[in-house]
Amino acid sequence: MTDLTGKIAIVTGAGSGIGRASALLFAEKGAKVIAADITDKVNDTAAENPEAITAMTCDAGSEEDVQALVAKALELHGDLHIFFANAGISGGFDGIFDQSVEEWEEILRINLIGPFLAIKHAGKAMADKGHGGSIICTASVAGLRSGAGGPAYTASKAGVVNLVRIGAQQLSGSNIRCNAICPGLIETGMTEFMYKMVRERGLEDKVGQLNPMRRGGEPIEIANAALFLASDDSSYVNGHALVVDGGLSSSHPFSKQKFGETAA
Ligand code: NAP
Repeated sequence: MTDLTGKIAIVTGAGSGIGRASALLFAEKGAKVIAADITDKVNDTAAENPEAITAMTCDAGSEEDVQALVAKALELHGDLHIFFANAGISGGFDGIFDQSVEEWEEILRINLIGPFLAIKHAGKAMADKGHGGSIICTASVAGLRSGAGGPAYTASKAGVVNLVRIGAQQLSGSNIRCNAICPGLIETGMTEFMYKMVRERGLEDKVGQLNPMRRGGEPIEIANAALFLASDDSSYVNGHALVVDGGLSSSHPFSKQKFGETAA
């Protein structure tokens, strides 16, 4: 059974959604967790398991704050094994002609520079300890092809997919693995507006209609993938972007095949 006993983990975006579910799961599996978020909702996450989880407010796109997070793990627990760089913002759905440079800068700062800072500072701390580790960054199916987010969001998440590849390469020989997760549609704070809208219109069964699983995902289904990548169960998985989307991105839209039908 997957076990994180003795591991020290940092999870960003842990006040809500995927980060919250992951911080709680890592703690349940034995890790000591620094749960970080820009909002103080992260205190509620820590309150669920105060023995194992310490809350810290931070801006995951700020170098100073990421350094402070790593320093906190070392100060409190003397070590660091796992960094889940998960915090992100959607930045809305305006098109290319309507997005400003300032919006692009902010989306890239949090969604792409944040994971870069995690690799830079957590990677250094883990390498100094000499025992290896696991850095996981949340990308998205939006980073694989267009259609699942605004332009800057999509570009930022595509950047994360390639960032973990260069991260894995540059951490060569350290036994620090660097991977991404590409979630599909998950019900979280980020997608709350959409779920609310379809529920108000009685259209909830339309959510996931393009998905072979015929549903959206739950935060715990991404947390389970993060747990796999955080743990020694994935000891030879490195430089990989793990798609966890119920099969959404497995097909072009015109080639949907239903159960019981065979290709001609
Ligand atoms: P969520 O419920 O909104 O959780 C994200 C958390 O991160 C929120 O508490 C958010 O605070 C916080 N945050 C925002 N900016 C931050 C910053 N600069 N520093 C630290 N924390 C910050 O959304 P989620 O869906 O769990 O998102 C987690 C990750 O999954 C994101 O990277 C997102 O892009 C990715 N993702 C989500 C989906 C999906 O369908 N939900 C799909 C693919 C990928 P605020 O509430 O104040 O913004």
